[in-house]
Amino acid sequence: MGMTQNSLTLPFPNVQLTSFALIDDVWVVEAASIGTVAACPSCLVVSAVRHSSYERRFCDLPIQGRPVQIRLTVSRWRCRNSDCGQSIFTERLPGMVAPRARQTGRAASILRLLGHGVGGRPGARLAARLGFVGNRTTILRHLIRHQLLSDYSAPRVVGLDEWAARKGTRFGTIAVDLERRRVIDVLPDRSAVSTAAWLAERPSIELIARDRDGVYADASRQGAPQARQIADRFHLVQNLRDRIEQHLSGRRQRPVNPIEQRQDGADRANFSRADKRKGLQRLFARVHELFRQGWTVADIARHLDINRRRVDKWVRLEALPERFQCDPKPTSPMRFHAQLQELMRRGVTKIRWLFDEAKKLGYKGSFGHMARYVAHVRSLARANSSPAPAERIVRSLPLDPASGSRISPVVAAAICMKPRPLLTERQVGMLAVLNNEVPGFAVIRRLAIRFQGLLRGCDETKLEPWLSDAKRCGIPAVVNFARRLMVDIQAVRNAVIEPWSNGQTEGQINRLKALKRAMYGQASVALLCARMRPLREVEYHQM
Ligand SMILES: [Zn+2]
Repeated sequence: MGMTQNSLTLPFPNVQLTSFALIDDVWVVEAASIGTVAACPSCLVVSAVRHSSYERRFCDLPIQGRPVQIRLTVSRWRCRNSDCGQSIFTERLPGMVAPRARQTGRAASILRLLGHGVGGRPGARLAARLGFVGNRTTILRHLIRHQLLSDYSAPRVVGLDEWAARKGTRFGTIAVDLERRRVIDVLPDRSAVSTAAWLAERPSIELIARDRDGVYADASRQGAPQARQIADRFHLVQNLRDRIEQHLSGRRQRPVNPIEQRQDGADRANFSRADKRKGLQRLFARVHELFRQGWTVADIARHLDINRRRVDKWVRLEALPERFQCDPKPTSPMRFHAQLQELMRRGVTKIRWLFDEAKKLGYKGSFGHMARYVAHVRSLARANSSPAPAERIVRSLPLDPASGSRISPVVAAAICMKPRPLLTERQVGMLAVLNNEVPGFAVIRRLAIRFQGLLRGCDETKLEPWLSDAKRCGIPAVVNFARRLMVDIQAVRNAVIEPWSNGQTEGQINRLKALKRAMYGQASVALLCARMRPLREVEYHQM
């Protein structure tokens, strides 16, 4: 080092450097505390009576990429306050190192910044390269222990949303302070009970923005009855657009076939494959459950954190496709599905007759199984035969006059939602043909534009007329959307009046997903939470 020992000082009060030397590639700095008095940590009375001294060892910021170890001689003092229970105390070194810490405060804060910024393992690698002493566990412990306390500030406006902890099967909850734009907490589940308990600990909450009526609505009613709920505008608009897109793609909701769903390959010899299959079955069933409740494909994909194309494919299927398609066994009526359908079509209605015919074909199953099968086939036939008026189904969209290719439902839905001044010239051309050639398009568009204006306009008196117009417009996608709004009407009204929206919560969820992936999906919720929360202002290193 190009310095003399005398010119090197430590930037801590009452600490004097006595020597330093490079020992085994570590800068060892010897120093002593030179304070003449110290305050007792119990009674705060100042004492000038030294009892003894001892050596503390801890690390500081590295020099030239090499670790620095400080060996500091500190004193023990006698407390002279006769009322104090503590007779001897060790010297505190505020601003330098915490009691029992292995790093100076400034070194620990850099380790926390590394952990917060890049995570445990990469943080440890980077720290070692820079000359810090501290493995992954140290860094994560520092980070989790020193994270922003959740009651650091009393939040007033909170956004609640869920995130997929494991694709489509386990969920957590994220809570964002919408006023201060920062994450308050990351909870490991999304139950109404635990969210309600979390809310109950924070009586300062006045407004809760959340997605559609569900778990968080229940949790808010239980845990924060004082708070008003806001249906999230971001999701409301997205939901309407997805429904319009669905309508324009000509897709309709269909019942799931439980007979086919039950064939879940449980008799496979390969258990792990059977387990995987069961997981897929559950996911498939959940996709259909949500779809039946009126969720859109895009919403389901986002919610379950699975590929949108997969959801799109699945909602059109009545059963999860067999990966290794094998014929149903002779004990299953499904094996004779085609023949049985033909018999039923020819007017054979009695189950006994169908059963006897199937036995002739080789059916080895029970009469009860056959009866369930027939009942189900009939219920499906009934569901499919209730016809929707022909003009309500969009068969195909017109061609884009500019390119000559067919307009996709996604583009058509986007144009449908977009106010005229924002349309490009090409989109104006598409709008004209959509208005002319798609029955009901102009009606949907008027309602969609009005709905968005309504959400921005802060005038709740416009909501009721919109709802009644929407319910009478005759387009199922819009009628269903309006009906769902009615279920949650107070929160929708608040969405019109209040300026808050979960748009930023959505952004935080994307950040969380990115963090989770960067940690190979192995991060604990505590660590995710520590990395999602902002660091305290005092964390930023000062020299
Ligand atoms: Zn004392």
